[in-house]
Amino acid sequence: MIKENLQQIRATLKPNIELVAVSKFHPAEAIQEAYEAGQRVFGESHVQELVEKEKVLPKDIEWHFIGHLQTNKVKYMAPFVSLIHSMDSLKLMKEIDKQGQKCGRVIDVLLQIHVAKEETKFGFTPEEVVEMLQEGEWKNYAHVRIVGLMAMATNTDDEEQIAQEFDVAHQLFDTLKADFFADKPEFKELSMGMSGDYLIAQEHGSTMVRVGSMIFGERIYQ
Ligand SMILES: *Cc1c(COP(=O)(O)O)cnc(C)c1O
Repeated sequence: MIKENLQQIRATLKPNIELVAVSKFHPAEAIQEAYEAGQRVFGESHVQELVEKEKVLPKDIEWHFIGHLQTNKVKYMAPFVSLIHSMDSLKLMKEIDKQGQKCGRVIDVLLQIHVAKEETKFGFTPEEVVEMLQEGEWKNYAHVRIVGLMAMATNTDDEEQIAQEFDVAHQLFDTLKADFFADKPEFKELSMGMSGDYLIAQEHGSTMVRVGSMIFGERIYQ
């Protein structure tokens, strides 16, 4: 099933859109199955779960971290994580820098932007991210590389609202690119879209979709 699901999703994705298979709460066997179907990029949202899976699964997997990240947990994944989607504070950036330095790596991150109507989502508001970038301290963190933005739309059936929120993120991406990253070709990713809204996201500027349940089925939360 996993193989067929992946094929089905890939068939609907525009070329050049990266598919991150969100494997949180699914066992290593399910990831292995997706791996055997050619998938190499996986997203996890809990540090301990990520670390345990990384140990037992093939070494050429690219692990993305997509969940809310506490500063005291960065050290566990710093040696191997390939992209952190959920960089949502300068304090966290400072810690990622410190841990990157310790293991001799430059860690790629996305700035998580809050565009949804929901209160509970983490991330910088558009105003906050501009302020943070203007202030300039981030430039001192040589072991962190900002490669784009991540955003989540409101969990709603209102497709117009979802599209509008993705447009806000897309416009912000263009503005930040011009104002702060014009000379940084690596600033090119816009991570938007999940199982329920990736088709909308890819029409509104997404370069990277994070799809879980459409690949692996429903998650069972303990
Ligand atoms: C769980 C999760 C996803 C995947 O959600 P699905 O609806 O299962 O596709 C994507 N992004 C983030 C940040 C998540 O936490």
